[in-house]
Amino acid sequence: MSRFLSRATAAMEPYTPGEQPRDAHYIKLNTNESPYPPSPEVIAAIAAFDAGDLRLYPDPAATEFRHVAAGCYSLTPAQVFAGGGSDEVLAYAFMAFFDRGDKVYFPDITYGFYKVYAELFGLKSATIPLKEDFTLNIRDYFGLDGNIFIANPNAPTGICLDASEIEELLRKNPDRLVVVDEAYVDFSNGKSCLRLIDSYDNLLVVQTFSKSRGLAGMRLGLGFGAPELIGGLERIKYSFNPYNIDRVSFAAGVAALKSGEYMREMAGKIIKTRERVREELQKRGFTVLPSEANFLFAKSPYISGGKLYESLKKNGILVRYFDKERLRGFVRVTIGSDEEMDIFLDKLGDIQ
Ligand SMILES: *Cc1c(COP(=O)(O)O)cnc(C)c1O
Repeated sequence: MSRFLSRATAAMEPYTPGEQPRDAHYIKLNTNESPYPPSPEVIAAIAAFDAGDLRLYPDPAATEFRHVAAGCYSLTPAQVFAGGGSDEVLAYAFMAFFDRGDKVYFPDITYGFYKVYAELFGLKSATIPLKEDFTLNIRDYFGLDGNIFIANPNAPTGICLDASEIEELLRKNPDRLVVVDEAYVDFSNGKSCLRLIDSYDNLLVVQTFSKSRGLAGMRLGLGFGAPELIGGLERIKYSFNPYNIDRVSFAAGVAALKSGEYMREMAGKIIKTRERVREELQKRGFTVLPSEANFLFAKSPYISGGKLYESLKKNGILVRYFDKERLRGFVRVTIGSDEEMDIFLDKLGDIQ
């Protein structure tokens, strides 16, 4: 490590992204990307983009993108924030709504970035254990003395709360901000809590284009909340990176929002594949958590998660393994195309 690093930088533990190997051709079931391309409208919009326009800065107010997003979800543009991936929206929320030393609550098992951001911004992480079956008891979150981050569906379990449960959480913490990370909500059974935005000024919903819209390579995310909350995120953005979304991404993002039908169709296909793979794994004795996301969190009856990960990798298939308390028996398997999942099941048969 360089001697020029600050003590804080030297001490931090960065997020570990899933592998993006370049050496061999793997079936990639490890980072919850979509097996399907973005919509034809997105591909056409990128192809039609006039690269000469790149000499000009993009619109820092994200006017058109926010307007179209608001239209899709029956909100106003003032209730919408545009980010370069949802990770950026989450980071801005950590910056805007906490002072150093504040407490932030989230489950012991959830998206790893919350802990990383908490540390980066000098907050105290207060983790609340999920129940033995990996479900979340919302009563554990009533009347807390800090803001709350909930991934819904949760990662890496895929387990999802109903919007009515989120609403109860909002009611029991009227003076705390509740951030609901809906990265996977398009694969759930209509469990988005976006409809609560108008009624609760302490709710921030975060969504991404990286999963259901097949645009992980583009970096687009959205935040939804009361105009005052969105104003807070804007203050951070204009103090940090006003041009956070480039012109090509805007063009793609607008086209993606306008092809909601395509997104729902692809999500439907992924859900169908997920249910088929779930049944198949259960037949083979696996424990499979009830996921409403584009992945399954599954535990072999025979071998550890680490061994299964290694064996699958040798067979050309990448899944995600978390070397962490309570998770070592499991692997997280992204739902790919039917063909990819058939190969996965096939190789799995050889390993077991
Ligand atoms: C993938 C993921 C994100 C990050 O999405 P980007 O928009 O690609 O930054 C955020 N939250 C959760 C829970 C995720 O799984």
